[in-house]
Amino acid sequence: MPYSIGLIPGDGIGTEVIPEGVRVLEALAAWFGFDLQITDYPYSCAYYLEHGTMMPEAAFEALKQHDAILLGAVGDPRRVPDHVSLRGLLVPLRQRFDLYINLRPARPLPGLPTPLKGNPAFDIVFVRENSEGEYAGAGGRLRQGTPDEVALQTTVFTRKGVERAVRYAFDLAIKRQKRLANATKSNAMQYAFVMWDEVVAEVAREYPDVEVTRYHADALAAMLVRDPTRLDVVVASNLIGDLLTDLAGALQGSLGLPASANLNPERTYPSLFEPVHGSAPDIAGQGIANPIATYWAVGLMLEFLGEAAAARALMQAVEAVTAEGRVLTPDLGGTARTGEVTRAVLEKLEEVE
Ligand code: ATP
Repeated sequence: MPYSIGLIPGDGIGTEVIPEGVRVLEALAAWFGFDLQITDYPYSCAYYLEHGTMMPEAAFEALKQHDAILLGAVGDPRRVPDHVSLRGLLVPLRQRFDLYINLRPARPLPGLPTPLKGNPAFDIVFVRENSEGEYAGAGGRLRQGTPDEVALQTTVFTRKGVERAVRYAFDLAIKRQKRLANATKSNAMQYAFVMWDEVVAEVAREYPDVEVTRYHADALAAMLVRDPTRLDVVVASNLIGDLLTDLAGALQGSLGLPASANLNPERTYPSLFEPVHGSAPDIAGQGIANPIATYWAVGLMLEFLGEAAAARALMQAVEAVTAEGRVLTPDLGGTARTGEVTRAVLEKLEEVE
């Protein structure tokens, strides 16, 4: 059975990097002997400007049939407000497909400088709860527009929601260094994060081999900058995970590198894989977008689909290209064009083979 992949290239550089991801994906399929069935979808801000919706209702049914979705980037901030594009596509996909885990590996690639002194070789995976918490959308505004206005944004943690995310993090930790950092703000928020910490402590009893460290999120942010090599798997809520993963992404050196997986671990629905960066209107159309984040997203997708050897080969090839430092896009200090990086990675893949 071929893997059925839905593509949403989106806007801006999303439409430039996704075809590069498909090129490496197709090459890997040929080398590793698996079949692909790829369907392209036009959902984007451009689609919104023409149809008044980021994606039609029928799209969810169509996308649901796939094994995985590869998303480029959506956004056209000059013509479509960010909350319209985000709330019109990514947020409903996360909700409808119960993509409750946001997985974000963060490690520098060989040969590339990071903003950290001595370029420490950290290797962290963030597990961010992706379906509730601070982004549950609960709250409202009272006495709006008056001097006495009050805005409430309520954090909603359900025990089941926290437990499934925490359990996923423990299962991952056990496969890695058996170290789990739990980042909350239970000192300042005494209901939601105290319950979160309790759930972590309860689940921890089932994983006696995993060493759990509790951090206040601000202390963990400082640790990321001071000594990120001390961290392995980090579990955090929606908002805290969002902030920490962006910081970790910046420590990787360029927004053109990090990728994320939005997972439905039970596989009831397709999981969604994407480069972390946005549509980057400032460089769109110039053919200089860094495609590495998209290759990384493809690697995460292959791993999730069960093609771990292909995923490993892909990342080895990418690392061989960055280590050599000859074919890099301008965000990494090079002069290569997007397609040239793909060609270099495909050449390295042949050598890895
Ligand atoms: P969004 O709101 O969609 O996240 P943004 O402008 O905050 O948009 P990006 O679109 O990711 O974020 O762009 C931020 C900066 O990083 C821009 O200067 C952009 O050119 C650069 N950038 C992002 N992705 C890449 C990439 N793949 N290759 C090169 N530069 C990139």
